[in-house]
Amino acid sequence: MYTYPGNIHIHSTHSDGSGTIAKIATAAAAAGLSFVVISDHETLAGLPEEAICQGVLVLVGAEINKDKNHYLALGIDKPVQFDDEHPQNVIDRVCQAGGIGFIAHPFDRGSLYIEKGKAFPWKNWPVFGFNGIEIWNFSSHWRGLHPSLFRTLYWFFFNRRGAMKGPPRRLLRLWDCYNSNGHRIVAIGSSDAHAYRYRLALCSIIIFTYRYTFTTINTYIVMKEKLSGNFTEAKAQVIDALSRGCCFTSFETLGKAKEFSFTALAGDQLILMGGEIRMERRIKLQIKAPGKRSLIRLICSGELLLETKQPEIIYEAYRPGVYRVEVYYRPHCGRARPWIFSNPIYILPFQYSR
Ligand SMILES: [Zn+2]
Ligand SMILES: [Zn+2]
Repeated sequence: MYTYPGNIHIHSTHSDGSGTIAKIATAAAAAGLSFVVISDHETLAGLPEEAICQGVLVLVGAEINKDKNHYLALGIDKPVQFDDEHPQNVIDRVCQAGGIGFIAHPFDRGSLYIEKGKAFPWKNWPVFGFNGIEIWNFSSHWRGLHPSLFRTLYWFFFNRRGAMKGPPRRLLRLWDCYNSNGHRIVAIGSSDAHAYRYRLALCSIIIFTYRYTFTTINTYIVMKEKLSGNFTEAKAQVIDALSRGCCFTSFETLGKAKEFSFTALAGDQLILMGGEIRMERRIKLQIKAPGKRSLIRLICSGELLLETKQPEIIYEAYRPGVYRVEVYYRPHCGRARPWIFSNPIYILPFQYSR
């Protein structure tokens, strides 16, 4: 099994980011990433720059819609018409164009200090036919913190980890609800990196650089084969893993999550995240957390099944359901912090026919 870290939802100079795609690739290589996904607003202008660059697979998609209902598309080769008012049309257009799509920052709250609190949430529920949803977006999370300016400055300069409270619980419930009702919605984590440049008197500063942001919320893909060195093959592999949910989200500031794994074993059949298996024989769920200071939570169809401080467990599933894993980091003092969120493994009911 092979695990590769990547960063999704990045803005370049083709829209409102401050860095070129070449600069983004350099930052990604320095951060040890295997792939990045550029998602500029309403443009595929970066598409000719797709390549394997400094060992990093650079893919270009787009972020569609303007004032609300932002949607990330990947695997399309022509721009898709926006439709803020009817986002189902955008989802369908991306699908018809052969692409995959993810709902971006669905519960965005905006910032008290930027653009007078303007927010970009997803307003139209329910929608169907989308591949996945961003459960944790680094920039949106920071914008949505509404403490005093003093507290924001404290977090920024002294305790950036402390500001990251994990994905909104109601968003996780929404995701579980879709999956428990027969949909297969993939969860991704993203940076929404812009590396905004702020002007202060005669100098300018970048608050969250690309290099820094690539060490925050990443999405790892998991595959049975190695990532190809050929661009076209590697692109197909990454899109396939993301569309099927062979991936997990990690808040990397707490530690690299490369050693995390969540699989199901039935006989000699190994099922990865995003996969399904019918309950026709004994199924063992295997969970491995990276490092000893972790807390594993196993969730079945939205309900907590077990919680353990053991770094590695095997759990025999005794009923069908949508199984997923959350890992928390346990500091020496203070509360455990949200760290890793897996995609589900789907265990289908045993079917009896005479
Ligand atoms: Zn957006
Ligand atoms: Zn964005």
